[in-house]
Amino acid sequence: MAMMQSFGAAEVVTGSCHLLTLKSGKKIMVDCGMFQGKNEEKNLQPFGFDPKEIDILLITHAHLDHVGRIPKLVKEGFQGKIIALRSTMDLAEIVLLDSANLMQEEFKTHYRKAQRRGAEAKVTAPLYSVDDVKALYNLPVQYPTYDKPISIEKDITATFRNAGHILDSATIEIDFIEDSQKKSIVFSGDLGNHNDMVMPSPTFVKKADTLYIESTYGDRNHKGIKDSEEEFKKVIQETLLSQGSVLIPSFAIERTQEILCILKQLYDEGELPKCKIYLDSPMAIRATNLYNLYHDELSKCCNDILERDGTVFDFPYVHYTLKPDESKKINEEESCIIIAGSGMCTGGRILHHFKNRIWNPKNSVIFVGFQAYGTLGRKIVEGAKWVKLYHEKVLVKARIHTINGFSAHADQSELIEWMENFETLGNIYLVHGEKEKQKIFKKAIKAKLPNKVHIVKEGEEIWI
Ligand SMILES: [Zn+2]
Ligand SMILES: [Zn+2]
Repeated sequence: MAMMQSFGAAEVVTGSCHLLTLKSGKKIMVDCGMFQGKNEEKNLQPFGFDPKEIDILLITHAHLDHVGRIPKLVKEGFQGKIIALRSTMDLAEIVLLDSANLMQEEFKTHYRKAQRRGAEAKVTAPLYSVDDVKALYNLPVQYPTYDKPISIEKDITATFRNAGHILDSATIEIDFIEDSQKKSIVFSGDLGNHNDMVMPSPTFVKKADTLYIESTYGDRNHKGIKDSEEEFKKVIQETLLSQGSVLIPSFAIERTQEILCILKQLYDEGELPKCKIYLDSPMAIRATNLYNLYHDELSKCCNDILERDGTVFDFPYVHYTLKPDESKKINEEESCIIIAGSGMCTGGRILHHFKNRIWNPKNSVIFVGFQAYGTLGRKIVEGAKWVKLYHEKVLVKARIHTINGFSAHADQSELIEWMENFETLGNIYLVHGEKEKQKIFKKAIKAKLPNKVHIVKEGEEIWI
């Protein structure tokens, strides 16, 4: 029999890392992501397996919680082959280089502070460096295309299908023969929603003897995207018409492109007051360029716009400010829209814009993504009267809006619908979700499907 073990995203959302060991001893890994938030220190701990023994690494998509520990895997001896979509590898390079640079910056700050106390020996070195990221790109890579099985070796194939979550995201199906018996295991990866705005809806899969499915929002159903778009439009119009500016802290991948798409739609409909829109995030600019490059993977709606206008995300109001001096110049602008990272305001250029504008009641801040506990974004959302920015106390007088309807994940009903579309479905294993939410999700699945449902624990041996 084959064995599955999860070394991340087990009863938590982040750190996706699933290992399939076949009877032959062949080891196939699916994702090797970073733990984020309160589990962060786990990134520094040993993997729980020997990276040298992994033969193949399959990657579902380029979010940090799915690729963030790959440079560590390589650093600790992984020499196998990577199988991932070409766009995944390109996007992962942007994500991993950004992560390596951030860790280096943090390390330098901690080191400097520790030096003053004579405690620099205690400062932990970054998880990996820019060179470790580059080393990953020297390994052999095989690029699949959606829906075409590729042979890993005799009697083992992998099929990537569009998961509709972000550019390049995949559901991966591994088919293998063991003791003359055909077996299939499907990893949902992160599944997208059905709004079809930038990404198409996830592709349905026909058969899985074993299914590993994400459960991020297994406990709830989202508000309709249309309501959120209306709310967004109203804030933009009101603020601009009263000569204020709109600040949008945004995640570089997917959310930024969705926001650009909505703004373009408003522009096309003549509903957007004349203004300058600054995309003030080097990472978001690079990601948007990749979205343009791999536009075939985007939704039909995006490709229709591309055919009509020759561009998906650009229109005359949009300005990409890559260089720091271009970013500083935005300060001179009176009434404008600024989209900048980081998404949870833990760093990045959004902090400069807050310092310049968040104290002014004319302006608005729109939060369009989840704000984790302990982040500056969360403090503002929860009504902080002032915030500390670059050692300065700054009043929060701008109007604060939180719009929750934008999500790159399927909700409970969409996840269940996706499972109901299998023609053959065996046991269901829940990963990539918080334990309490997974319990609710398990109950909801049980009410609709006859299959056995199990919440995967870290390191647990599951025989398939
Ligand atoms: Zn993701
Ligand atoms: Zn994820």
